[in-house]
Amino acid sequence: MTVWDDVVGQEHAVAALQGAVANPVAMTHAWLVTGPPGSGRSVAARAFAAALQCPQGGCGTCQACTTTMAGTHPDVTLLATEKVVITIDEVRGLIMTASRSPSGGRWRVIIIEDADRMAERTTNVLLKTIEEPPPHTVWVLCAPSVQDVLPTIRSRCRAVVLRVPPPQAVADLLVRRDGADPAVALSAARAAQSHVGLAKRLARDAGARERRTAVLSIARRIRGVGDAVVAAGELVDVAKAEAVSATQERDAAEKAELMRGLGVADGETLPPRLRSQLKQLEDDQKRRATRHQRDVLDRAMVDLLSLYRDVLVVQLGAEVDLVNAELAETVRSLAADSTPEQTVRRMDSIGVARTRLAGNVAPLLALEAMTIALRPQG
Ligand SMILES: [Zn+2]
Repeated sequence: MTVWDDVVGQEHAVAALQGAVANPVAMTHAWLVTGPPGSGRSVAARAFAAALQCPQGGCGTCQACTTTMAGTHPDVTLLATEKVVITIDEVRGLIMTASRSPSGGRWRVIIIEDADRMAERTTNVLLKTIEEPPPHTVWVLCAPSVQDVLPTIRSRCRAVVLRVPPPQAVADLLVRRDGADPAVALSAARAAQSHVGLAKRLARDAGARERRTAVLSIARRIRGVGDAVVAAGELVDVAKAEAVSATQERDAAEKAELMRGLGVADGETLPPRLRSQLKQLEDDQKRRATRHQRDVLDRAMVDLLSLYRDVLVVQLGAEVDLVNAELAETVRSLAADSTPEQTVRRMDSIGVARTRLAGNVAPLLALEAMTIALRPQG
């Protein structure tokens, strides 16, 4: 076992990072790890941090490795944000931390999980530190692609590019690490299109598999405009419910912690002068729930896209595996009932809906336009 075990299907990137750990000449103080969502950017960043702290370069079992992987190593700081933007104060805090020598580890490592969520002004604050960091400080920035970070940052970092791992590699991980059933794991990895986190959820959670199947079933259920409007409403409701169930518990815990921090006992009313702090937290939580709901909807649309992609594969007679192998019958019947041109138009309408949703159009509006475009057309 080593710290690299969970970085699946990324032999090339792992070799580059391992090389830097083993050879001080290959070491750089600023790294940019990029890869599509679910490719394991933060897992790779954390493994790299562990390998840097470990006397054996990432054995996976010593204290340096286990504490880094658990997120408790005192010299490894990770900034993960659920918010839409990383604030300038957060970055200033990291710069302060970065300026201190490691307390006992070999390096001080600072990981920013969503470096693409920094405004230009915030990025500029970071530039100087990245350019001339203290001798034992390493910055690891993660982003979906190099284009997502400003050129000024990009040019000062060494890039490590992750790819979409093969489904079989993801399935093997789920079997080995989580004890998933091999067949369920492979089908989950395919359905998640190798997004490791989603594949794990699909393999583990029958409810998530059912929700996905329900989303895909709308492709066959929509016969006319009426069905389309109903289907759009259902999609929005499912996303809302999922966002609530994912955030509820955490919201309550955060609120309780804030109240304790303010010295307010359970059930006691908050004095007026402290109310703005609670309001701030509630606003943050609301933003987080909205973002989560949009993420869930986007995922549903990616699922639908994968189904029409399968339809197109069948229509064009291409020799590639179906993403939705278990829905082969639905795929074949949709393929028989439409032309490749129609399939492409449907895929376009899903793409448009995703763009509109990302641009803050009301979800129901964006989805109705999409589902109406999915209905069978002469
Ligand atoms: Zn170790």
